[in-house]
Amino acid sequence: AKRSSHNHFQFYVASIDKQIRERKQLEKDLASALVNHEFHLVYQPQINLSNKQVIGAEALLRWEHPEKGLVPPDYFIPVAEANGSIVEIGQWVLDQACWQAARWASEGKSLRVAVNLSAVQLRQESIVEDILGALDRHHLPAALLELEVTETSFMTNMADAIRKLNQLQQAGIVISVDDFGTGYSSLTYLKKMPVHSLKIDKQFIRDLLVNEEDTRIANIIIDLGRSLKLKVIAEGVETAEQEAYLTRRGCDIGQGYFFSKPVPPRDFESFLKTFHRN
Ligand code: C2E
Ligand code: CA
Ligand code: CA
Ligand code: CA
Repeated sequence: AKRSSHNHFQFYVASIDKQIRERKQLEKDLASALVNHEFHLVYQPQINLSNKQVIGAEALLRWEHPEKGLVPPDYFIPVAEANGSIVEIGQWVLDQACWQAARWASEGKSLRVAVNLSAVQLRQESIVEDILGALDRHHLPAALLELEVTETSFMTNMADAIRKLNQLQQAGIVISVDDFGTGYSSLTYLKKMPVHSLKIDKQFIRDLLVNEEDTRIANIIIDLGRSLKLKVIAEGVETAEQEAYLTRRGCDIGQGYFFSKPVPPRDFESFLKTFHRN
């Protein structure tokens, strides 16, 4: 766009300007989304691959925009992280997920609910008390809450992240590394962090058994998990072949459309009743 024609340049400026306006509008809409109750959570089952029991669910955020309809989290979460509103939104997610897990527990369904914790949230000084506060408010046993953190969370201030995650882990909360293998993986933090499980990113599962490299990467993560005594979760499991392979290869937990897409609580409860396999 830079050195081409005048017209091209104008087009370029106009499109940048449009992007800025869209971004501003998105931030404005995000700011009112919480008070207007436009968020809800959906839950995707996590299956113990060796006995096919549903052991828990990942809570995933959904934003129903009044005009635009469903806005994908991959689109709005980065914006909420950039302007800091993820802190408040994330607190709402935690509260809602703890409420749901406590409700399921009270109905005799002991499910661990996994919540995505943004690096921006982990950087908050009050994050540990905020999370423990949510457990308290809903009388949820800490072992029923799992936090999914990405490798980037460890990067800005490793010592700070270690201190906070240790406190959370000591309280009984389960910590897992999300999108494992896609970030700046370092074996150092696996040694220093109170990590309970590794989540193989769905990009390595998509072409499992089709692409040799992806299959090898999945194998390596499974073996790494085993040698470090960490649980390994595969996300994005879509086919029976992938499920069979991961099970045979010793991956502990599976999650993906093959079992269920992320669904509202009521549909999740129906899934629990109908999912019986061996
Ligand atoms: P993620 O944490 O890696 O979540 C997994 C994504 O894979 C979810 O997308 C899920 O719907 C999708 N997925 C599940 N099974 C399959 C499958 O079999 N095939 C395929 N192709 N995809 C599958 P979703 O819900 O659109 O979320 C996208 C990302 O947004 C999440 O990636 C996470 O990084 C972020 N996110 C979602 N909810 C929250 C939240 O409450 N807080 C934060 N901080 N981030 C969130
Ligand atoms: Ca996740
Ligand atoms: Ca992922
Ligand atoms: Ca992610």
